[in-house]
Amino acid sequence: MINYTERLTLLMQDIVAKVPTLSFIDVADVLVFARSGRSNAEGAFATCHCLTLPASEPGYYFWRDRTTQRITRRSEWFVTKSPEVTLGPRQVKYLLSFALPRFCDQSLDKSRKERLYPGADAWIAKLDTVIHELYHIDPELSGIRRIERGDGTYSANCHGHRFFEQVAEMVHTYLNNHPDPAAYDFLREDFSTLEKRFGGVVGTSFRTFPSFPQRYIERVTVQVPCEADSEGVNVEPLRIAQMPRRYTENDLDVRQFMKDTSRRQIRKGAFRAA
Ligand SMILES: [Zn+2]
Repeated sequence: MINYTERLTLLMQDIVAKVPTLSFIDVADVLVFARSGRSNAEGAFATCHCLTLPASEPGYYFWRDRTTQRITRRSEWFVTKSPEVTLGPRQVKYLLSFALPRFCDQSLDKSRKERLYPGADAWIAKLDTVIHELYHIDPELSGIRRIERGDGTYSANCHGHRFFEQVAEMVHTYLNNHPDPAAYDFLREDFSTLEKRFGGVVGTSFRTFPSFPQRYIERVTVQVPCEADSEGVNVEPLRIAQMPRRYTENDLDVRQFMKDTSRRQIRKGAFRAA
């Protein structure tokens, strides 16, 4: 079977070696994993998740009375934090998730990317997505890359108006740097062709599948009054879903992805980051 997330990781190593804008990325800081996403359903092809964001400022939830607009109750103070993912001694800084089989069936035809690649092969859409996600990694490795506007301020949107053109420029830079076709050839095939050729498509996923490491809420130990606390405001205890806060290589699985479903493979003894 073809391990799609391993192939993507190897491709990323080749990309960061050949595209100067992305050369600051050490692929060992990045973990590629697969989520499920049907080809005929709406949704993202891939997502960049940052694990290096600091804890948030303390906050709380509150509820207002619809008529009087007064706050009637609020939650306890909490902060949100990033989970920790380690592979051996190394802490992972970014997760890149790919939706399978949707990503494999992505095509340039009739997509909004088509105008950026006149006359190109349909599979270039997938290379575009891989580079797009890598471009979200911040050069300081401390969040999602912020996009500077013409006036020197930062856009609230992580896709500034030139983002898509810049990604296309990097796709061309990569292809013009004579990459070994073995690095990207797997992108040429759609999902059913890959299944036929390799007998199946597998990828790294978390044991908590379909859940994966995400920001979590932590109650602040010292609860202080807040300015909204006036007479009649109830402070309610936080009800927090128990989510893992630490993940290691032991929390990774290999999953086989099929057209409409997926299933866990026998666990590998040890995960080796490609
Ligand atoms: Zn994006």
